Amino acid sequence: MNQEVQSAYVHFPFCVKKCAYCDFVSFAGKSDQMEPYVEALCKEIQLTRAESILEDSYAGLSTVYLGGGTPSHFSRVQIKKVLTQLEESFGINKDAEITLEVNPGTVDYSNFAAYRAIGINRISIGIQSFSPALLSTLGRIHTSQQGRDAISAARAAGFINISCDLMTGLPGQTRQDVIDSLSELIENEVPHISFYALSVEEGTPFYDYYHHHEDRLPDADLERDMYHSMIKILQQKGYNHYEISNCSLPGMESRHNMTYWKALPYYGFGCGACSFRNEWRTGNTTKLDEYISLMLGPASQLSDIKSDTDYITLSESRKEFMMLGFRLIQGVSIDEFAKRFDVQMNDIFGVELAELIAADLIFYEDGSYRLSRKGLDYANQVFRAFV
Ligand code: SF4
Repeated sequence: MNQEVQSAYVHFPFCVKKCAYCDFVSFAGKSDQMEPYVEALCKEIQLTRAESILEDSYAGLSTVYLGGGTPSHFSRVQIKKVLTQLEESFGINKDAEITLEVNPGTVDYSNFAAYRAIGINRISIGIQSFSPALLSTLGRIHTSQQGRDAISAARAAGFINISCDLMTGLPGQTRQDVIDSLSELIENEVPHISFYALSVEEGTPFYDYYHHHEDRLPDADLERDMYHSMIKILQQKGYNHYEISNCSLPGMESRHNMTYWKALPYYGFGCGACSFRNEWRTGNTTKLDEYISLMLGPASQLSDIKSDTDYITLSESRKEFMMLGFRLIQGVSIDEFAKRFDVQMNDIFGVELAELIAADLIFYEDGSYRLSRKGLDYANQVFRAFV
């Protein structure tokens, strides 16, 4: 039986300027394409609805995530147009979580007030750090003060559900830098905090600077120290460490991201976006011009923009459940596995689980297998056991 699709991700791949470490599907200096892109998005949503009406079972969207790129680079009218299209095509449930990613360099109070007025109820702010030197190294367009102002303005406009991102492992970053930035967020009572280690990706300016000069970056021990220090502080302040890279105050976990970690289906709209439904994972073209022209062309079809299409077999589906589920601190539940796949987890993965326990990477507790403290540092080894 097909699972209900309750989540939609919409990608807005435009930025004011490309950050020095970024390899996401995002483009700078293409503002003239933003309006046609919104039209193309609406078309893709309509076509998906027409296709899915025969295939999917659903009762409206429970989570919508507007990510990027920089969605807040778009006008409120453009963002509203996309939300309206989602509502008309799929319906958005009254209690849906609707998140908008925001770059502090693109917003003020009036933006946040407008976002509230069009139904957005969760804001994710890309703070990264409050250190002026680190923001400059990263090539971010905002200052640390703009980061602070964005949090205050979001709150003043009535947002309660606010998430902020921080980065670790940055060039020249000290443990104290990380703690200082984190402390500001905690003092501001930001209810959801995500933290990501820098990954030096090919094709970025950072790759040229650091790929052969890793000595210019904090070493692995220091990066791990930053990570565990953050978690310890957050837990002392009442935050729940619920996913490898995410902590929240009780009840403020990201419902949308839970869809991914629970390996549930979702729609993905936009250039470079991925979808997962009815055992098919598909990826849209990452070429902006191609995406727009194909979607807005005569007799456009969804298949035109799909650059990747993979059928997820039952065996792969079970492995993904494990791989993604281990990202959650609550781990993978043997009951949930049995309910989803009608077979016992230990009958399928008994060998792998025993080896991971022997390596002290996971442990069993209260009906679930979870990452150990060592497993948090070597999570990739755990994921690889299910590839
Ligand atoms: S704002 Fe985000 S998506 Fe845009 S260039 Fe910077 S890191 Fe990449």
